[in-house]
Amino acid sequence: MRRNIVAANWKMNKDVQESYDFTKSLSKKLLNLKRTHIILCPPFTSLFYISELLKNSSIALGGQNMHYEKSGAFTGEISASMLKSSGCDYVILGHSERRHVFNESNELIKKKIDTALSNDLKPIICVGEKLEERQSGKTSEVIRTQYSSAFIGISEQKINQCIIAYEPVWAIGTGITATPEQASEVQGVIRNLVSEQYNREIADSMPILYGGSVKSANAKSLIETENIDGFLVGGASLVVDHFFEIINVVEQFSIGQEK
Ligand code: PEP
Repeated sequence: MRRNIVAANWKMNKDVQESYDFTKSLSKKLLNLKRTHIILCPPFTSLFYISELLKNSSIALGGQNMHYEKSGAFTGEISASMLKSSGCDYVILGHSERRHVFNESNELIKKKIDTALSNDLKPIICVGEKLEERQSGKTSEVIRTQYSSAFIGISEQKINQCIIAYEPVWAIGTGITATPEQASEVQGVIRNLVSEQYNREIADSMPILYGGSVKSANAKSLIETENIDGFLVGGASLVVDHFFEIINVVEQFSIGQEK
């Protein structure tokens, strides 16, 4: 059975003290959490400090981005080994804000994915269509292109290190959520792409998250939907109680599944 995952993407929010306070408070609330895997992706500046706090905790840390080179004259960039040595096991790559605000191409994202995997960092690879692409019936095509570019050449040994997040661009930070049917349909397309490239067993064990205006109010209907294994949460991950409520929905669902 796939493990349910809830990841927080804080984007450019929370200074070191705010990150610390949030993490301390969340850790206390999650003491009895058994089935859901939590990943916090704070700004780079908070990573190391938080990692000290999370030393004996099951909460994992991730970076929000990374450069594909090892080191060098890349002002303002962060390498895979810097993320690792700051306590990260994960890194978000291909987020729609990186693709569309910072013009990151599929080719660039692919280089980052390969670097992450060769440095033992698990990439959370985001894919998703823009509104005009959905409206012109191009969703599957866009997802296929983003998927193929990201996964080409990834071995069967490495594929189980990857997490995919389906994040329709029109749903991110807009308050508009994909319906469970819309999300499930595209996540099914992604699972079939994994199956075509590898096999059904690998596809069935691949965690595919949904992201885009997830809140506690819509989390239940989404997590109950086929092909959704958890969430990548932006806005609602900034307030401990809101984030905890989403985690709780996923945890209760996981417990129900095991009965
Ligand atoms: C995100 O940034 O990955 C995201 C899903 O944001 P939000 O939850 O705010 O839509």
